[in-house]
Amino acid sequence: MNMSAEVVARSPGRVNLIGDHTDYTGGMVLPMAIDRYTTIAAQPLDAAIQLTSADQPIELHCALPVVDPTSTMPAWGRYVTGVAALLNVERGFSGSVSTTLPLGGGLSSSAALELSTALMLCAVNDLPALTSLELAQLCRIAEHLATGVPCGIMDQLTCASGVAGSALLIDCHSLQVSPIEIPNDVNIYVQFIAHRQLASSAYSDRVTQCAQAEQHIGPLRLAEVGSVRNIADEVLQRRALHVVSENERVRRATVALALQDMTTFGQLMNESHQSLRDNFEVSTNQMDEAVRNAQQTAGVFGARMTGGGFGGCIVIVADSTANMNNLDGATLVKPVGGAKLVN
Ligand code: ADP
Ligand code: MG
Repeated sequence: MNMSAEVVARSPGRVNLIGDHTDYTGGMVLPMAIDRYTTIAAQPLDAAIQLTSADQPIELHCALPVVDPTSTMPAWGRYVTGVAALLNVERGFSGSVSTTLPLGGGLSSSAALELSTALMLCAVNDLPALTSLELAQLCRIAEHLATGVPCGIMDQLTCASGVAGSALLIDCHSLQVSPIEIPNDVNIYVQFIAHRQLASSAYSDRVTQCAQAEQHIGPLRLAEVGSVRNIADEVLQRRALHVVSENERVRRATVALALQDMTTFGQLMNESHQSLRDNFEVSTNQMDEAVRNAQQTAGVFGARMTGGGFGGCIVIVADSTANMNNLDGATLVKPVGGAKLVN
């Protein structure tokens, strides 16, 4: 790599249409990469990373190779040093990152930062190109390192393997990704509700509860709704009921989407929200209210919270006649291709 060359790496964010809190038990999800991007523009630099972020007051300076990403300061830099530590590279970069995604808004700005970092580091070190799946797996582990949160593969795999015009059915056990076309006259909106709060500790609690439920009834990805009754603990029973029924909803929603049966698709989204609210308890009153307003809007097929919960965004699927003016800040998003080097 020519040391004066500028490299630009870019990753989309993602919105999940249906299938939340199913990825970390190897279940089904149906997200799409969206036309909101994180972009790193930089030049190669020996033995260090210097990165300014348009969204953070303090810039990142770190020496390579990275020894302990969990102690990187400023803390946002951990997503970057987590990736650098895993790639174990000695050449870094000097440049800037900017994004059109909200930070902490449930549209995966963290995965987009990790993926653009990974692409940048591979490019400046002349490493062989990684597949989308390899990139996603690396970045998922980087996020564990950076935050301690045991996230599933959905965010990284969606941002890495987006397909223009399509949602992605992902089996988080086999890691198979199947694009499902979204009809041209179907519009998808995200509505930002609030920055997420308490998200990481509550998320980790849910991961633990799902593991506990699996000790009673085996892998949730294989369980039937009826078997959930065999869990004595009432809270664990509801957690499991959400995951098992959500996997089923994703399968049915995929069929509905493929058949362009958006009424059924929307109904399943609404049921998903109800289950996330009542069984999995990861919604908030503000999100519930926004979802209700969206669901009552003419032309809307369905609406639900999206992502880990406790704030973030809701996702709304509507026909082209729906009037979004009453849904404050709802913005149209389009399904796009995955993370890549731009130049
Ligand atoms: P989400 O991925 O839903 O946006 P997360 O809490 O997982 O929310 O990740 C948000 C965090 O990722 C931010 O608080 C910040 O630390 C980091 N981050 C993401 N994008 C950027 C960016 N462009 N510049 C600096 N930090 C970023
Ligand atoms: Mg994130």
